[in-house]
Amino acid sequence: MIVVTTADECRTEIAQARKRYAIGFVPTMGALHDGHLSLVRRSKTENPFTVMSIYVNPTQFGPNEDFDKYPRPLERDRALAEETGVDLLWTPTNHDIYPEGFSTFIEETLISRDLCGKFRPGHFRGVTTVVYHLLRTVTPDRLYLGQKDGQQLRVLEKMVDDLGLALKVVGCPTVREPDGLALSSRNAYLSADERKIAPSIYRALQEVETAFKSGERSRLELVKILQSDLGRRPELRIQYIELRRWRDFETIETVTEKSILAVAAYLGKTRLIDNLLLEPTKS
Ligand code: AMP
Repeated sequence: MIVVTTADECRTEIAQARKRYAIGFVPTMGALHDGHLSLVRRSKTENPFTVMSIYVNPTQFGPNEDFDKYPRPLERDRALAEETGVDLLWTPTNHDIYPEGFSTFIEETLISRDLCGKFRPGHFRGVTTVVYHLLRTVTPDRLYLGQKDGQQLRVLEKMVDDLGLALKVVGCPTVREPDGLALSSRNAYLSADERKIAPSIYRALQEVETAFKSGERSRLELVKILQSDLGRRPELRIQYIELRRWRDFETIETVTEKSILAVAAYLGKTRLIDNLLLEPTKS
């Protein structure tokens, strides 16, 4: 595995690889877990050369969020990336992404308005800006993103379409703990008691999935199932429960096309998100 830090070094390595290989790209903030590694594995089945970036992006964190305490186990991450078969690991410097006096942002303004966008002002603007920068340097053929961050996936798909970037976005399924909790670098913040409660979000989503598979299509009914299930867990402070049409994140009363049921909740000081994709044709 080649490891580079500056954008110039990264570009040099990419120029070499590009002569021979299609390039798959997995952007991350590190503290790698099997969710991240599943994206690498998927990329390796579709591209002879896989690039991973690790960068804790300051502009996607709000002023009172966890930027400072976000875990940064770089040596461990490096070993995991290498074991999983990453070909090029890029750990950008702040200067490469945000040069002195930086004042130009990329902002998606439709999908990113509500849900996490509403509760984390500026978050998606930070995400689209950093991913655009990373894409400019890595110039991948395919970009691998997790469904776990469903709204982020759709925002980035939209950015790629709107800006006509010549790459394919590949959304990959959420990897979970055996008890259903979606893997997340932030799970490390949970206390032992909170960790026992956290899977109740997935269990509630499963209840909704069962109802959906039995033919329930009403937004109000599907949301009600999630609300009443999660309502039994007073430790979970729900930030939002939203059912939106996938393509534009508009509210719909009846699920007639691919949609997302997304939830965000605080458990103690940890913010957890999870979601369920509802696809009428597949049920
Ligand atoms: P992050 O390091 O949190 O910015 O995540 C980097 C990438 O990994 C994003 O595309 C995430 O959606 C994806 N990811 C994070 N957790 C999971 C998971 N449990 N399953 C699948 N992909 C994930």
